[in-house]
Amino acid sequence: MSLLVVGSVALDSVETPAGKVEDALGGSATYFSTAASHFTGVRVVAVVGDDFPGEYVEKLLSRGIDLDGLERKEGATFRWSGRYSQDLNQAITLDTQLNVFESFNPKLPAAYKDSEYVFLANIHPELQLKVLEQTPERKFAGADTMNFWIDSEREALEEVFRRVDCVMINEAEARDFSGESNLFKAAGKLAELGPKYLVIKRGEYGALLWHEGEVFFAPAYPLEEVSDPTGAGDSFAGGFFGYLSSRNAYDPDTVRQAIVVGSVVASFNVEDFSLRRLLDVTSDEISNRVEEFVTMIRFDADGVILS
Ligand code: AMP
Repeated sequence: MSLLVVGSVALDSVETPAGKVEDALGGSATYFSTAASHFTGVRVVAVVGDDFPGEYVEKLLSRGIDLDGLERKEGATFRWSGRYSQDLNQAITLDTQLNVFESFNPKLPAAYKDSEYVFLANIHPELQLKVLEQTPERKFAGADTMNFWIDSEREALEEVFRRVDCVMINEAEARDFSGESNLFKAAGKLAELGPKYLVIKRGEYGALLWHEGEVFFAPAYPLEEVSDPTGAGDSFAGGFFGYLSSRNAYDPDTVRQAIVVGSVVASFNVEDFSLRRLLDVTSDEISNRVEEFVTMIRFDADGVILS
């Protein structure tokens, strides 16, 4: 099925206890599309400057990602730099240079308008709404956001949440948006806006799915070495949407599977800096880790449930 992502394509400079990279390939749409490309074809709408290395474009094309919607503008590419200390769940943003991303106005190529699965990565909520207007045939749409938009563009963001089928945000954002410190109360409040599914990403503690008051939990895959958590949320979303799109389904059981797939894909992403691991992970490696995941969360309830 046709999967579309709209978000950032960036040059990231990142430092973690495991090392650092400068002007490495990054951005929400990049992580999302590379993750999704392991399951399905994916279309990207984003903007880069004329300094964006051709070598990075080649890497994305080598994964079969459709870049017809990647606009190239005069000027510098969006740059983000961040640092992680021992708490790898929390990025400290050192610098954000919007550059050509500041005037980003997503215009979908005509061939993208029939996209059925649509992911709105973290961009201005008004732009997210514009994308929804341009995808009349969508079956399943999801949106991410960040604290900045929660604090400054509340009304437009609520409208986005009302219109999508799945809101996918991290724990701190869910608390910030709802004003509730208890995660389940926060989920309940967010769900009141109307999205069928709510996915709350909890970093190394996994992810929580909320669907019509029912809760499903997946732990994060237990890794001993995490090199760079950048893009964990976006690669989770890419695995999740890539899987749903490949199955062309979004019923509760398939969505639970997608949560596990997203967790597994994100676990590969954080093993190395930038997109290195996500670009070369194989289908077999992904499948094997899904199997390990099943073993990890399965238990025998016989004798525990008293009936
Ligand atoms: P994640 O770690 O999944 O939240 O995503 C990190 C990616 O988001 C990095 O590759 C950054 O380039 C990108 N990013 C950081 N800040 C922003 C922003 N304000 N708008 C869009 N993308 C951003």
